[in-house]
Amino acid sequence: MSSDIDSILRSPKAYIWAQKAIEAMETHRVWPTALNFELWLHYVAAKDSNVAAEIHTVLQSGAPFTDQVGEKIAAQHLPAVKLSGEILDAGKSLSDELDSVHRAIESARETSEAYGQQLATASQSLEDQDTDAVRSMVESLSVATRKVREENQALESQLADTTDELGRLREHLEQVRRDAMTDALTNLANRKAFDETLERTCVQAETKGVPSTLAIVDIDHFKLFNDTWGHQTGDQVIRYVASVIGRVASGARFSARYGGEEFAVIFPGENSAAALAAMEVAREEISSRVLKRRSTNEDLGAITISTGIAEFKTGDTPAGLLERADGALYASKRSGRNRTSLADLGSESTRAA
Ligand code: GH3
Ligand code: MG
Ligand code: MG
Repeated sequence: MSSDIDSILRSPKAYIWAQKAIEAMETHRVWPTALNFELWLHYVAAKDSNVAAEIHTVLQSGAPFTDQVGEKIAAQHLPAVKLSGEILDAGKSLSDELDSVHRAIESARETSEAYGQQLATASQSLEDQDTDAVRSMVESLSVATRKVREENQALESQLADTTDELGRLREHLEQVRRDAMTDALTNLANRKAFDETLERTCVQAETKGVPSTLAIVDIDHFKLFNDTWGHQTGDQVIRYVASVIGRVASGARFSARYGGEEFAVIFPGENSAAALAAMEVAREEISSRVLKRRSTNEDLGAITISTGIAEFKTGDTPAGLLERADGALYASKRSGRNRTSLADLGSESTRAA
């Protein structure tokens, strides 16, 4: 689902919106499939979205809202569906391209096989032929040779075109893959990329016995900030916090937007003391900066973050490690916020301003 719909489904009015979407589907005799639900949620809760506009047009036309209509709107406007469509398209072009190379190779192979046979027949009959017959044989061989050369040239140029096209497709797929792993608001890695990296890091920590650490960050009192300054300014703050965290997480470290106003940093090969030092740098930098609203230069005051850190222990699963980091984050919140706490060490492990 798009991040907007995601936050609608996590807002206090989530159930009201969900009910409205189902009611609207019932009114317009639309099956409550998962895809239709997502589309009709846009219709009721995000009235200025492209999806809502498309549904509105269909309803005005008086045409029934069939599954096909829904799928078409989803393919155009829902990021996940659009993405899988793009991957399918790229795969189709790749397969078409390979088909045409295959056909060209096949044709060149047939020509050169025929040429070989012609040569064999010619050399056989050359032995006892008179001059005229030899001349006509040489002529026919020269025609066949020209044909083989032409086919080879065509094949070479086709291969060059295909190589170019494959390069373009590879770049496009790479871009699609990067987009699928990136959070659009902050440009940090998204939750999917985070889950994969955490899984990989845990496997390496377990098999190689190297230390690895996870930090989870949550902006303090962010609901209040949004209520005071508005969601858009809130988004700018999320971007700012992401930039600080991204800078702290340089090199082999990996940072991601874990959820709405939550971030995660993975420290492969580093213990919790190193992670604590790095996250304290981020916390101090963020809490000491007076934020300004970009459009009006208005003073917004400073915001603070709370962080929980857990180091990988033998036998840990990604979920277990996350749970302990979350527990430490909760300890930071409970003991006053604007803090960084280590899991499993008790309250003396909390660092604060
Ligand atoms: P706490 O100190 O306990 O973390 O208090 P909090 O108000 O930050 O509480 P919580 O972390 O539960 O609230 C998260 C809030 O973050 C809710 C929502 O308004 C806001 N939020 C989540 N995602 C986004 C987003 O993408 N943009 C904006 N502007 N706000 C978001
Ligand atoms: Mg939160
Ligand atoms: Mg918060």
